[in-house]
Amino acid sequence: MGLLSIGTPLPWEEAKKWADHVRFHGITQFLNTWERTKDRHGDELLWGDEIEYMVVTFDDAEKNAKLSLRQTEILAKLSSIVDDICADCPPGVTVPTFHPEYGRYMLESTPGSPYTGTIPDLLAVEGNMRFRRSLARQHLKPNEIPMSFTSFPRLGVPGQFTEPYYDPADAVSSHSLFLPEEITNPHARFPTLTANIRRRRGSKVCINLPLFIDSRTPRPFIDPTIPWQRNIYPEDPEAKNGAALRDHIYLDAMGFGMGCCCLQLTFQACNVNDARRMYDGLIPIGPILLALTAASPAWRGYLADVDCRWNVIAGSVDDRTEEERGLKPLKNDRFRIPKSRYDSVDLYISNDWINRPEYNDNYLPYDQNIYDRLRNHGLDDLLSRHIAHLFIRDPLVIFSETIYQDDTNSTDHFENIQSTNWQTLRFKPPPPNSSVGWRVEFRSMEVQMTDFENAAFAVFVVLLSRALLKFKLNFYIPISKVDENMGRAQRRDAARSEKFYFRKDVYVDPSSKPSSAGSSGASSPTDEAPPKKEKKLLNCFPPLPLPEDVAPLERPVEEEYEEMTLDEIFNGKGDAFPGLLRLVYDYLATLDVDQEASAKIEKYLDLIRRRANGSLQTPATWIRNFVRSHPDYKHDSVVSQKINYDLLVAVDEIERGVRRVPELLPKDYTGGDHDKGNIGL
Ligand code: ADP
Ligand code: MG
Ligand code: MG
Ligand code: MG
Ligand code: MG
Ligand code: MG
Repeated sequence: MGLLSIGTPLPWEEAKKWADHVRFHGITQFLNTWERTKDRHGDELLWGDEIEYMVVTFDDAEKNAKLSLRQTEILAKLSSIVDDICADCPPGVTVPTFHPEYGRYMLESTPGSPYTGTIPDLLAVEGNMRFRRSLARQHLKPNEIPMSFTSFPRLGVPGQFTEPYYDPADAVSSHSLFLPEEITNPHARFPTLTANIRRRRGSKVCINLPLFIDSRTPRPFIDPTIPWQRNIYPEDPEAKNGAALRDHIYLDAMGFGMGCCCLQLTFQACNVNDARRMYDGLIPIGPILLALTAASPAWRGYLADVDCRWNVIAGSVDDRTEEERGLKPLKNDRFRIPKSRYDSVDLYISNDWINRPEYNDNYLPYDQNIYDRLRNHGLDDLLSRHIAHLFIRDPLVIFSETIYQDDTNSTDHFENIQSTNWQTLRFKPPPPNSSVGWRVEFRSMEVQMTDFENAAFAVFVVLLSRALLKFKLNFYIPISKVDENMGRAQRRDAARSEKFYFRKDVYVDPSSKPSSAGSSGASSPTDEAPPKKEKKLLNCFPPLPLPEDVAPLERPVEEEYEEMTLDEIFNGKGDAFPGLLRLVYDYLATLDVDQEASAKIEKYLDLIRRRANGSLQTPATWIRNFVRSHPDYKHDSVVSQKINYDLLVAVDEIERGVRRVPELLPKDYTGGDHDKGNIGL
């Protein structure tokens, strides 16, 4: 989540009066940023991950795993020990930072300073992640464990799922039937966000996940754990009046989505145009890696027929009114808006000629006045539309103390809108008064249970992003097809059983194809000295060749892509499509990597390969199978307290390398060694 300002948040009726003010000054702030940084060039590759954890309390006597609501104390403790560690840190070792998140049981950690493009930094990612986990782990209570687990299977069940217990009757912000007020980070921003989404929308948020129907699931399934007759808040009757669907798991609060954990990566680009190209290139990768990292099959005590968190979060912050959702004719609101503010990206933004206008085939509401203002300032069409589209949203949290800002030195109003557009990719402009450049954040992945896996996905994406720039790759497909892929990615067992739209011919310039990629590649190695190998991951590459120089094949867009399995997308399909892993290997071949480093990277790529070819399970499949084969499971879709406890005990054992799961992890996975301080730094 964005920065936390301290102050007095306005209730929705007050906040909405300032919406145009925030948008106007937000755009002024963006234009000031633009003037300052549009010609900035030569920024090196800096990059970093964000890992989110839920702190789980294990009650071994009652066999219950609960969410620990001690975030405030834990963060205070971690920041104090981090200061101490810093005092005797070896040079070059940066101490990680821990951040608050939406859930009062959540933590987020990032490396203390971003990784650079060196090979040692690439190899340090996993150790850095393990170090962070161990730090957190060592400073919790003995029965608490920080777990990088995407969705807590019993969030919102009747009875006790938090430590301490709170009654959902007190949920004054969300009015949820299931989640107490205390589930939410107490900082004013979060309860206000929760309440203002509900107030703006005009009802509680409403998510219905299809239930996984097992052999003894009662049909039709009418959820006996919903307090159908509760009558505390005005929205309580919504459930029985149609909001809660039969054969579904009904969720009614922001916490169900924003209480999930994910893995995000941010990359700094050489300049704004490269950032735009990287952003576009990673858009079609978003759903692909969502499917491959799928880790959330259980919700509110039930198995769902989906494997991912994405649509839950989208629904959990969907502040659109009925008019905006198209349920009523537009009268008070300005736009019909097809998606929640948390959803997949709607627009490719690169000005490269390979970005054909046909690819931007989604209906895109945008604020015409803002668009005109940006254009009149000299911005191009695509970036103007991108910003004017983000700015159809209202600011949800406004602090009375920060309404008037210095638009040359602050970007708070811009960030207010920008950082509450939670999309698969985020295009991040350079902040004021800092050395940070244009960045792209990759946001679709689910967090993995071990740092080996988290590091594998981080390393894979950074290498793929380099291959994209270095080999001048083209991943464009119509953005509506990317959206279709987002839907498919979340289905149960998508990694194995779904097909996804993907581009067939990914080289813009056939002469930049490395020789391994096919016979039409570079000239034979005997003709020339072998190319110089790079010592690190570079960030600045020559621009794309002009179309006249590469004579691109003009084909109808529909012939540029086809449906592929994940195995084909990663491991290749026929002669034409090399597969994403081949692209990464070709990129690695341009680097000066010693044998030890290669072997480590190979382990990461092997995990990706095996997930994609189905010889290793996704976390979602593994969790689902664990539940379904538990002796207490009654084949009725229910994840009981005991099953949940055993599941989370098992997940911790897996992480520590105590429990061996060859169906999920490579045989030689050794686990986090949290007691001995052997944390790989
Ligand atoms: P947010 O929550 O706004 O997405 P965070 O600050 O939590 O962002 O995390 C951003 C990530 O970006 C961290 O991993 C951090 O190490 C990394 N990072 C910091 N500076 C840079 C930079 N100049 N370029 C790229 N990544 C950076
Ligand atoms: Mg976060
Ligand atoms: Mg963060
Ligand atoms: Mg943040
Ligand atoms: Mg982030
Ligand atoms: Mg652990």
